[in-house]
Amino acid sequence: MNTPKYRRVVLKLSGEALAGDRGYGISSDVIGSLASQIKEITELGVQVAVVVGGGNIWRGIQGSSRGIDRATADYMGMLATVMNSLALQDALERMDVPTRVQTSIEMRQIAEPYIRRRAIRHLEKGRVVIFAAGNGNPFFSTDTTAALRAAEIEAEVILMAKNNVDGVYTADPGKDPTASKYETLTYLEILNKGLKVMDSTASSLCMDNNIPLIVFNISEPGNIRRVIMGEHIGTLVKGSM
Ligand code: UDP
Repeated sequence: MNTPKYRRVVLKLSGEALAGDRGYGISSDVIGSLASQIKEITELGVQVAVVVGGGNIWRGIQGSSRGIDRATADYMGMLATVMNSLALQDALERMDVPTRVQTSIEMRQIAEPYIRRRAIRHLEKGRVVIFAAGNGNPFFSTDTTAALRAAEIEAEVILMAKNNVDGVYTADPGKDPTASKYETLTYLEILNKGLKVMDSTASSLCMDNNIPLIVFNISEPGNIRRVIMGEHIGTLVKGSM
């Protein structure tokens, strides 16, 4: 009963999840709570890789709508994810959780470059690995990065942590009172129905590589543990049909 369902996971934290209710910047309370939830699952022996977003600081699309070249704006977004990753590393290490940040764009003075085999080695040694700077390419998202890294490190599942949203709904529950939550979904349904779970590149990558995804509410403490122990919360997006 006390055995975790998963051995190796990718946890996708959007920038928003680090911002808390303010919606922007980094909340030290929120990041502390996230770090303690991550610590809890590492103590169960689960290998945890984290992909951190940057939307709480900068999004490429918003920058380009203000006239900045899209690729440049996206690089700025990738740098935002590095700031978030360092903040999370700091919070984890203050709780004595050994953590390595690996960046897809080299910045050796502050983090290791992304090296797949090295990342896996860290995980095997019980270190949390934070993947920063997306996948290093503009026109991608950190959701795509989560899908790519999960495939590369052979993670069994992607845990997509949402702020105050407890799964995937048929419509926006804030606007449509008839909206209902999906218990399970397939990537094909996400793509066909245009559901805003993750972008289509990320969905396709997960579908092609048969990686399941669980969308759940991170704002409720203990939820990462519940998911890891196999409790059905949120929405499960099945890898295969
Ligand atoms: N980004 C990118 N390539 C990547 C990952 C991210 O160009 O591989 C940029 C993109 O501009 C994006 C920003 O970084 O808007 C922040 O990432 P994202 O929007 O995925 O963060 P989240 O929504 O999870 O906070």
